[in-house]
Amino acid sequence: ARRKLIAGNWKMNGSLATLGELDGIRTAALAAPQVDVAVAVPATLIAPAAQLVPGLAIGAEDVHEADSGAHTGCISAGMVKEAGAIFTIVGHSERRGDQHETSHDAFMKSAAAHRHGLAVILCVGELEAERDAGRAERVVQAQIEKSLPDDAHADWLTLAYEPRWAIGTGRTPTMDEIAAMHAIARAKLRQMVGDTALDMRILYGGSVTGTNAAEILALDDVDGALVGGASLTAAKFVPIIEAAA
Ligand code: 13P
Repeated sequence: ARRKLIAGNWKMNGSLATLGELDGIRTAALAAPQVDVAVAVPATLIAPAAQLVPGLAIGAEDVHEADSGAHTGCISAGMVKEAGAIFTIVGHSERRGDQHETSHDAFMKSAAAHRHGLAVILCVGELEAERDAGRAERVVQAQIEKSLPDDAHADWLTLAYEPRWAIGTGRTPTMDEIAAMHAIARAKLRQMVGDTALDMRILYGGSVTGTNAAEILALDDVDGALVGGASLTAAKFVPIIEAAA
């Protein structure tokens, strides 16, 4: 059986002053041993977060595809690992949009993360226009096809389905739409990597809150949530952890 994973994504939010929120999050994680809890934070906060809350899985928002080199402003997988990250998000739709990253970039970054022993949360998801055009399924299948590393294994890779139009908008797909896309993603994974796909977690992301989490997490093939805004405070994130328990 797949353990549920509730992962926070702080994006470009947080500061030393707000790191204390992780204390309450860790307490909730300890109280729900059957749930995995993780929080991705900005690169500058990885080391202080890892020191403040040992035992809570701290991760990076992104990594570069290369191990080192002349890439001004970029951060490697080895660097975030050294800072205390145990996982990284890759291919988030905000990177795909704002930084024009492709599925091939996500493929290269996933491989770099794995080389350095980081777990990976690989994000896919369609744009609103793509859904309106009836292309959502094909878009997500193609993203998985092009971004999933060849040696992807449930031990280190988690897929996250995040429809772009549901992120930070308060809009979520219907439960049927979420369940349908997760089933499609599972089938695609199975076609690509075989039976390890049955153990691979697929998270839903996009306007998850303490109010809608229980319903979403009860769906077949939904193995957790990737949470943005509602992960920034313990008060909002803890109810989502509790909904998974
Ligand atoms: P929100 O939960 O703020 O909609 O963000 C979702 C997300 O992008 C998580 O990666």
